[in-house]
Amino acid sequence: MASAVLEKILSDRIGRIEISQTLAVVNEAAKLKADGIDLADYGAGEPHFATPRHIKDAAIKAIEANFTRYTGVAGIPELRRAIVERHATDFGSNYAPEEAMCSAGGKLALFNAFQVLIDHGDEVILPVPYWTSFKDIIQYAGGKPVLLYTSEEDGFKLRAAMVEKAITDRTKAIVVNTPCNPSGAVVPREELEAIAEIAHKRGIYLLSDECYVYLDYTGKRYSAGGFTKYKDHILLLGSLSKTYAMTGWRVGSAIGPKPIIDAMSKLQSQSTSNTNSIAQKASVAALNSSQDCVEEMRKDYINLRDHVLRRLGEIDGITCVKPEGAFYVYSNVSKFFGRHGMNSSADVAKKLLHEAHVVTVPGEAFGTKEHIRISYAVSREEIDKGLDRMKKFFSSI
Ligand code: PLP
Repeated sequence: MASAVLEKILSDRIGRIEISQTLAVVNEAAKLKADGIDLADYGAGEPHFATPRHIKDAAIKAIEANFTRYTGVAGIPELRRAIVERHATDFGSNYAPEEAMCSAGGKLALFNAFQVLIDHGDEVILPVPYWTSFKDIIQYAGGKPVLLYTSEEDGFKLRAAMVEKAITDRTKAIVVNTPCNPSGAVVPREELEAIAEIAHKRGIYLLSDECYVYLDYTGKRYSAGGFTKYKDHILLLGSLSKTYAMTGWRVGSAIGPKPIIDAMSKLQSQSTSNTNSIAQKASVAALNSSQDCVEEMRKDYINLRDHVLRRLGEIDGITCVKPEGAFYVYSNVSKFFGRHGMNSSADVAKKLLHEAHVVTVPGEAFGTKEHIRISYAVSREEIDKGLDRMKKFFSSI
């Protein structure tokens, strides 16, 4: 259909956002795969591990017990309790089950949060590089993302002083994603606490995306939820996707002030209603059982990170900040601009895909033009396969 016709049909709202750029890359790679091309795939942001056995067993048990009906919108009571208890044990937070809810993925929890907090023209401080969906979700809610550029020389670290400077009369919220997708940067504990204090003092909300909080390689895992004196202005958005290798199950969580959780639940009651009942039972098992599986995966990711950094180090011209968490390396490829028809990271990612058959995500999706994101949540063999290809590609241009 011609775009002029579509403009009349579709709402202004939907025109404010774009299809998730990481998913766009996945789609393009899928077309090549369908043509039989063997790709080294570092595009998707998801664990290569299988969901642990005991979590799958809990789901099977739920099906056998016919736990297959609607549940309360915010989640079954035992899951809401498991969410806050896990968080209290791991991070010293202090929430009641009514201050927590589950959604069909962390992305929906975030989407709901912005919908209930943001009015037209409200500003949301968004550190760069950012996970691609934040910008669109904020815009869809009518908000204005205020980009806050972190410095590569400082390891992409978010500092409280930068946040303070970016606050205006229209600021409603600040997004913090630590460890960060795509940079792997971890916000230092004292900076995170200072940001929570600023939010509290200025009456704005700290939206802390904890999707990768268990994939922290510094060994000093912490959460904004541990700064209990500022809890009125903190909303914690979590996900079981990466922590327990459960991306397809679609379970995310929100923990925060009850009025916000109630509003998010009200909104969710008019969209998806409850999260899949079977996935909820599996999530209770994930949160309440031994966390050894999380630690095992974390250790494997550290080895994979070190391996991919070693291999990237063999390629002259690529530089990387050492990631402290998550499972991405945000590699600076700007030294190659001006060569082989490449003038942006989008060009580099495209050439890598079509000429070297390596899937990466261009930095444009995350707010910078000099980088490509490499997801190392793959096997060591897959790292070697793609890095051999990349080395050959970059040394030949
Ligand atoms: N937050 C960040 C930073 C992410 O990278 C992702 C997924 O890639 C999510 C939230 C949402 O994850 P999910 O919807 O699978 O829970």
